[in-house]
Order: sequence, then C-alpha cells, then structure tokens
Amino acid sequence: MIYDPQTYAIPDEAMQPFISEKEIWEMLEQADADTNKVRAIIAKSLNKQRLTMQETAVLLNTTDPGLIAEIKEGARTLKEQVYGNRIVLFAPLYVGNLCTNNCSYCGFRTSNHAQRRTTLSEEELVSEVRMLEDSGQKRLILVYGEHPKYNADFIADSVRTVYKVKKGNGEIRRVNINAAPMDTDGFRTVKEAGIGTYQVFQETYHREAYAKVHQGGMKRNYDYRLTALDRAQEAGIDDVGIGALFGLYDWRFEVMGLIRHVNHFESVYNVGPHTISFPRIKKASNVNVDPEYLVSDEEFTRMVAILRLAVPYTGLILTAREPAHIRKEVLKYGVSQIDGGTRIELKAYSGNKPQQDLDAEQFEINDSRTLNEVMDELIDTGYSPSFCTACYRVGRTGEHFMEFSVPGFIKRYCTPNAMLTLAEYLEDYAPADTREAGYKLIDKQLKEYDDERFKSMLSDRLERVKTGERDLYF
Ligand code: SAM
Ligand code: SF4
Repeated sequence: MIYDPQTYAIPDEAMQPFISEKEIWEMLEQADADTNKVRAIIAKSLNKQRLTMQETAVLLNTTDPGLIAEIKEGARTLKEQVYGNRIVLFAPLYVGNLCTNNCSYCGFRTSNHAQRRTTLSEEELVSEVRMLEDSGQKRLILVYGEHPKYNADFIADSVRTVYKVKKGNGEIRRVNINAAPMDTDGFRTVKEAGIGTYQVFQETYHREAYAKVHQGGMKRNYDYRLTALDRAQEAGIDDVGIGALFGLYDWRFEVMGLIRHVNHFESVYNVGPHTISFPRIKKASNVNVDPEYLVSDEEFTRMVAILRLAVPYTGLILTAREPAHIRKEVLKYGVSQIDGGTRIELKAYSGNKPQQDLDAEQFEINDSRTLNEVMDELIDTGYSPSFCTACYRVGRTGEHFMEFSVPGFIKRYCTPNAMLTLAEYLEDYAPADTREAGYKLIDKQLKEYDDERFKSMLSDRLERVKTGERDLYF
C-alpha cells in the first residue's frame, strides 16, 4: 500500500472509511435489547453463526441483570461446547522501551523522563530467553516501544536470536510480536524471520479520543495505524492480532470497532484476525488517566462474554494486567490464551526482582504468579494448559476457524497436542504435586477417547515424551 512518507496519510480510499463513527453510534442507538431478540441472538451464536454488528449492539445494550446472566451463560456454553477446556499459555518479553511517541497512558512515552530506557543487547536477550525456557515457556510475545532503532531488521534479528536459544529441553517454538506498524517491506522482513502473530492495537477506534491521547510521534496518525495489518496482509502475514485499550472511550463503541475491524478482514482477505486483545488501562509511571471511560469489572466480564458470542472463532487474549480473580472468571466466558509467570520490566526474567518498578516498565501488572502457580490453578479448575504451536508450524492457518467449524478437529489435533505439551512440561519443569495433578488430567482425557486406534497412538506418544522425546504433535 502506498502512503505519503512525510505525513503517513493513506491515499487509498478503500481503506479509509471502514470505521465509521456515525454508523457505529447509529447502530448502538437503534439496538433495542428486547428479551426475545437477545435470546434469539444468543441462540444464533450457539448455532455456530457469527453475529452482525447490529446483533452485537443489541447484546451491548442489554442492561437487564437476568439477560446479562443469560449472555454470560451462552458464552460459557459456547466455549465449553466448541472449544473444550484448553487454555494456551505464553509470556511477554520486553526487548526495548525507547519510544518516540507520546501516548498519554503509557509509561514509555517520550515525555516521561522518569522512565529508565533500556534496549536488551543480544546477550541480555539470550539470558532472558534462557530463564523463560527454564520455567517451561514455549511461546513468547516480543514487545518493543516505537523508535527508529526498533526497525524491521532489528525486530527480525531479535526474533531469530530467540529461536536459536536452546537450553536443556527448552526452546521457543513460536515468537509473536507486538510492535509499531511498519510499511509493507518491513512486514516482509519480519515475516521472513518466522514470526507467529503480529499484533497492533488500535487503542481506540474513536478518532477524537485517539487524537486526544496520542500527542506526539508517528502514532498520531490514526489511519496509518488502522491500516497497519492490511500492509501486513500484503506482505504475506495473514496471522494478525487486533486490540483496543479499554478506558480511552466508551467501551461499547470499542467493541463495535473491533467487530468492524474483523468484518473488514473477513471481507477483504477472507480470513479474520487470529486474536483480539482487550487490555484495560492500568497504572503507569507518571500517568494520570482520565476516569471518564474506565471500565468496571462487571462491564469488563460482560464484554468478554459478548465478544465470545460475536466472533466465536477468534482467539481472545487476556494478560496479567488483570488480577487473578478476574482472569479466573473470564476464562469461563471464552478467553483462549493467557500469559503466565509474567514480568514486564526490562531484563526482569534474569533479574528476578520481586517488586515492580514502574519507572522501568510500561504499566502495573496485577497477576505476578509464577507460570507453575498459574498452571496449578488451571489444572485444579479442570482446564487443560497448552503450549501447542503445531498449527502454524505445519501451515494449518486459520486454526480457530477450523476448531470451530471442522467436526472433530479439536479432538483430533488440539486436545492431544495440549496433552503432549503438558506432558513435556510435567517431565521437564513441574514440581511433584503439579506433575501428579497434571498426569491425572491427562489420564482422564485419554480415557475420554473412544476411538481405540487413536487412543493407542496418543498414549504411545505420551510414553515417548516420558522417555525423553520432545516436540511430538498431531
Ligand atoms: N509501542 C508499540 C505500540 O504502541 O504499538 C508496541 C505496543 S505497547 C509496548 C503494547 C500495548 O500496551 C499498547 O498497544 C497499549 O494498548 C498497551 N498499554 C500501554 N499503556 C498501557 C497501560 N497504562 N495499561 C495497560 N495497557 C497499556
Ligand atoms: Fe510508545 Fe507504544 Fe507506549 Fe505509545 S504505547 S508510548 S507507542 S510504547
């Protein structure tokens, strides 16, 4: 896509109007949350059909507590019936906090002189990855501020470095990226390094709210950011993650913006985004957030349920920004990926500091449990933790769609791969009690297979993991 390198304006008319504030507000104003309508919409989603923006608006306008409970119950049923009990685990790794932008909510913004700036050297990056591998991580998301130093070549180099680090049985099998928008050539460069998902959050889909909080640097340009993942598609990256930062504008508007963005991808590229993120603004170094649009816990949990029903085959990511009890609750409504053992201070994994220091990191996290503590809770509550990376490595893209629409896909691929990666974790990293609980879960899941041939193939692979083989998957 061609854009003006001075102003970053996008001359491509086709790209510009896909978020219309007028359209979104009209839909929200006209959506009547009548009981029968709400129930019919929930039933439509449970019947494995995606919701329209108008239908999503009806759910967003629902205020009756009984109906809200039905929305949450619907999301829970959809999640259980369609996706089963798997939760994919990952960890964030901050590579550098230099930033030329001035996002008012972020500790990294250029005007925050209290922030200590660091960029990991190659050796430091390797040390961080070794620590992460030692705790059992297999999937990372690398995070960068926006700065000329963090250009496509730099990002591609850091991705290659991460893939090369092997410690014991440890290795990182999927490196995702959360970094500033690039031009198409830049996206090509990072694709060649073998990235998984490329995430760019629009922060807010509302232009005026966007202009208010993005007061400096390239990020001021709403359109350049909105079309970032279109350039990624042009460069051949079809695995992309969208997101909004909740607390900058009306949360219902942002949900509509996210759904509109999904529709854009589906209509233009015939494939939706791989994941949606929906972080809420947290405390950060020298940040004073305007409280007008902050999202309450009740609204937040409701929103996750609505997103699940609206886009049943898009992965939903929840991070350690949220406290453990909120994470536990929204796992029920459809979150499919969480981080565990999270540290976001630069060099924090090898530094092993117990307290956060907001002047050396982006924001406050509210779940600082170790990966193993998170795994224990998941296993105790009947979830199946997964480090699976099979689909993207064998080229099965659009995996969430397949999970959703291909009968037997989860049973044939996702569940056994979750079990195999859990077994690796139990063998290599887990303390005795986690190991015992984990194998109990695996045995229970194995018993649920009635296809004897597949069951014996799976137990054979589980035995091979026990005897030291690694990276087995279906
Ligand atoms: N600098 C790149 C950019 O802005 O796209 C990389 C992303 S930034 C390091 C990761 C994300 O953190 C941002 O997109 C934003 O949504 C989120 N974020 C920033 N400040 C935050 C805060 N105070 N609380 C919660 N999330 C925040
Ligand atoms: Fe920089 Fe990203 Fe923070 Fe904005 S959100 S100040 S671009 S790191």
